[in-house]
Amino acid sequence: MTRREAAEFYRRLAEANPHPETELESVNVYTLLVAVVLSAQATDAGVNRATRALFAAVDTPAAMVALGEEGLKRHIRTIGLFNTKAKNVIALSEALIARHGGAVPRDRAALEALPGVGRKTANVVLNVAFGEETFAVDTHIFRVGNRTGLARGKTVLAVEKKLDSITPAPFRVHAHHWLILHGRYVCKARRPECWRCIEHDLCAFRPKTPAPATRAAA
Ligand code: SF4
Repeated sequence: MTRREAAEFYRRLAEANPHPETELESVNVYTLLVAVVLSAQATDAGVNRATRALFAAVDTPAAMVALGEEGLKRHIRTIGLFNTKAKNVIALSEALIARHGGAVPRDRAALEALPGVGRKTANVVLNVAFGEETFAVDTHIFRVGNRTGLARGKTVLAVEKKLDSITPAPFRVHAHHWLILHGRYVCKARRPECWRCIEHDLCAFRPKTPAPATRAAA
């Protein structure tokens, strides 16, 4: 996809949804970090169901440490990999207190040094909490980037770097949300809904999925 086509791709997403937001619920930067750690290999809806009660009671690293690993597990046992995630959330809360005065650092290296926090989680926190132009490539963005030709790459890091180079201002801050939502609701994994897609003519994917009525008639 050319730079001009990429700009038009984003312009359409922006026009359709001017203020995209993460679907992961949180009450402050700390709980956003915890929610993102919990969301690995889990759905946002599943994480939200577990964290509503948790974050109503616990919204600081100190309160999380006081709750303890077993107490945390009781809240998140419906989320996949909850044993490892509980261990990581307690350890990262202790690290935030020890290294950052209980605050979440606005710094990639410091974030990635926390237990359970990888590049993608750091990218989400830097983007959503601090408004930085980062591109958190999840399974939806990886698929949309490769399918459409917007950002092709064999690894998530390659796709992230391509997005970084091809995404123009003023779309850089919201790019990751638009692409996730597009992948989640339109450019779906099994059957992309090309017939109702606003990117139909810009996208390299072939053959396009026809409208259901057309398929039935064929
Ligand atoms: S046209 Fe189809 S494959 Fe291309 S972005 Fe839209 S839904 Fe995805």
